[in-house]
Amino acid sequence: MPLDTDPISGPISDPISGPISRVSGRPVLVVVAHGDDPALFIGGTIRLLANSGCAVHILRFTDDATDSHGLDAAQTVVRNSQEFEAAAEILGATSTESLGFVSDTLGNVPRLVLREAAIRAIRSVRPFAVLTFDPYSVLFEDNQDHIRIAQEVDEAFWTSMFDKHHPEHAHEGLALHGVAERWYFGRRLLEPTDVVDISGVLDIKVAAALTHVTMMDNLLHQLSLMAHTAGVPTAVLQQKLNNRDVLVEAMVRRSTHEELRIVRFAGFGDFFDELLEETV
Ligand SMILES: [Zn+2]
Repeated sequence: MPLDTDPISGPISDPISGPISRVSGRPVLVVVAHGDDPALFIGGTIRLLANSGCAVHILRFTDDATDSHGLDAAQTVVRNSQEFEAAAEILGATSTESLGFVSDTLGNVPRLVLREAAIRAIRSVRPFAVLTFDPYSVLFEDNQDHIRIAQEVDEAFWTSMFDKHHPEHAHEGLALHGVAERWYFGRRLLEPTDVVDISGVLDIKVAAALTHVTMMDNLLHQLSLMAHTAGVPTAVLQQKLNNRDVLVEAMVRRSTHEELRIVRFAGFGDFFDELLEETV
């Protein structure tokens, strides 16, 4: 999850005239590692896409079995799955899928296994745009699950168009598919191209984040451990950390914008603009 909010470093897009309207009404695939990634990283943009008539499918690679404190793994899987589904509904997602890889272990899953899952999702959902982690925002990324997803989805963008990659998909009725737009997000993008104003849907993003009770309780526990290390007195700690929802809401409300690095038609955006103009 993004714990720090960095200054806006790209051009601010109008949700009416910017990339949201360009994608309006088309299918969109959001690929994440964990249940809370959609809401916390890109929840405002997802809701704006849903509001613009996009069918939004969210693919979650892991089972989030490890993200809790004081619960066993089985309880954690159930709770985090329920909270993921509830948050996705608040964000306006049309459908969700969870692949069930154990959380915090994607770094130990063969890369081509992850890539095949991404290719399969692209060929199944057939999205106009895919939203996922930016493989080039790894500079400030300490989560290997996010890095693995970023790298394997990035390669799936073009391998999903190759007939020599997973020809067995064709036997399952999954045809080759070319994603038109790649929308990358991350903790801190090195070269954002668009900044989406989410102020109109910020309350919805907050509501989605607040559904992740299990993960947010674990976040508070991590903060308390670090505060303990820093020597913060227990009484002060209890006062500051006694209201999970207030802390989570404050964290989400720190930014009314979400940054994206958008690549259109694999870098052939100008070429396609001309093609589309001639088509009209
Ligand atoms: Zn995550």
